[in-house]
Amino acid sequence: MMSLHRQGRDHMRISSAPSRRCGAAAALVVAALGAAQLTTAQAPAFDTVIQGGRVVDGTGSPWFIADVGIKGDAIVAVAMRLDAAGARIIDARGLVVSPGFIDVHSHSEARENGEDMIGNPAALNNVYQGVTTVIASPDGGGSVNLADYLGKVAAARPAINVGSFIGHGSVRDAVLGAANRPAMPAELDRMRDLVRAGMRDGAFGLSTGLFYVPGNFAPLDEVVDLARVAGEMGGIHQSHMRDEAARILDSVRDTIAIGERGGLPTQVTHHKVIGKANWGRSVETLRLIDEARARGVDVTIDQYPYTASSTSIQGGLIPQWAQEGGRPALLERIRNEDSRRKILTEVSRSIETDRGGGDPRNVVLASCSWDASLAGKSLADVLRDRQRPVTIDQAADLVVEIVQKGGCSAIYHAISEDDLVRIMKHPATMIASDAAPGIPKLGSGVPHPRAYGTFARVLGLYVRDKGVLTLEDAVRKMSGYPAQRLSLPDRGLIRAGMKADISIFDPARVAETATFEKPHQYATGVAHVLVNGELVLNAGTPTSARPGRILRGSDSRLRPVGR
Ligand SMILES: [Zn+2]
Repeated sequence: MMSLHRQGRDHMRISSAPSRRCGAAAALVVAALGAAQLTTAQAPAFDTVIQGGRVVDGTGSPWFIADVGIKGDAIVAVAMRLDAAGARIIDARGLVVSPGFIDVHSHSEARENGEDMIGNPAALNNVYQGVTTVIASPDGGGSVNLADYLGKVAAARPAINVGSFIGHGSVRDAVLGAANRPAMPAELDRMRDLVRAGMRDGAFGLSTGLFYVPGNFAPLDEVVDLARVAGEMGGIHQSHMRDEAARILDSVRDTIAIGERGGLPTQVTHHKVIGKANWGRSVETLRLIDEARARGVDVTIDQYPYTASSTSIQGGLIPQWAQEGGRPALLERIRNEDSRRKILTEVSRSIETDRGGGDPRNVVLASCSWDASLAGKSLADVLRDRQRPVTIDQAADLVVEIVQKGGCSAIYHAISEDDLVRIMKHPATMIASDAAPGIPKLGSGVPHPRAYGTFARVLGLYVRDKGVLTLEDAVRKMSGYPAQRLSLPDRGLIRAGMKADISIFDPARVAETATFEKPHQYATGVAHVLVNGELVLNAGTPTSARPGRILRGSDSRLRPVGR
């Protein structure tokens, strides 16, 4: 920043041109001066001026009324009044002008069903909410070949910016498969190499999914070791923790330990407390996080604003030990009477006290590739349809049957509103969706509404209707704060020198319209969205522009602002 400001001042002294403090704009003017002195006077100072909006700048500061001037892909001026001669004008009077939102936990990684950023580069569910950047491959997933993945996303020309983590589960799978044992030294070396390559190719850090197979099979020391590699290269660690129910405190301690011992920032991702018996424990999880922060551990949180989670039936309810060796081995264990009994006991327990929310009604199937008619039905509905008694044991039986048929994704209503609000209010919590961008294949299944609603829901329900957060704090949790967490030097704030990723919305109308019953509905109330200076949403209507870029953590770490 400093050198650019200096460049700007030098330029001003020489040319006495109007104040313009962005490196890119200054360079443009300097180049133009060299070519022909006279043309610069007539050239419009801005391509676009957003006039008269309430600027919520992403820092958490109270809003102020200002014009925002954009030249090329950058914000070049923020002032009470700007000369808009020759520029496209966006009238933002009565609207909020905020940084575009940054989703630090997005399932935009390549997926088999094509519901991803490559298959759906328009990312309309994001655009309608004002989301301008997504970071893919959380929960330990995504491709181990990040150069390949990011290249494919670039070729698909996304409407919004895309970055990625390198996923520990994928790295472990590439080296050990689904083996339930610690890595040998040579295997650990190979995993270190894969993490290093991922970081070199642009990962923002290491994501772990210690709840899932095969991440679950890794001892803590292995995770610390690989996190250290990411940390040495400037990355962070973000974790879907080993347990979010009965053993959640141990899991938070582990996440803190990974940061403390690995020497890098660490983040509890989609923080929640699952299972009625555990409700209220966010008091303790947040206390652990506060204590760690007090002693200097850089631990942070992200969250989606719903009291239900979503993952596959297999990932959510089947014990991890039964999944060692992959699907053929799991099916074999289901066929074997002894192991089947053990699996059923643990699935019953999960439905009773964990993700199942204590009732077969609380597990709702989102989509099943082998029977589309099951989408939207709870385990209780399916049991009733088959004239079977609605009990937890019968539901466990049904779960195992579903896995044998090929599995389903599901939604689990097992989180309390009190925990959700307590976590949301914590100053170290940012907002993230945990959702795929692909659901714009409108109508496929009955997925979790978070893909369509996360950011609009926070602004509508938790800011305007419930007053849980101030507007400024909510915007900070969606923009400036995640940008800072990712070390993105030139996004997340409305400020001269930043890239022009901007969301312009009506604070009185912004709302989620997606519901658990009818999730395929875009958010409303966001009027205009700019990505790198180009409109992707104009007066509530998507444009055909695809100005999104690939963001690489390595770029941010090595390159000064504006280069
Ligand atoms: Zn997760």
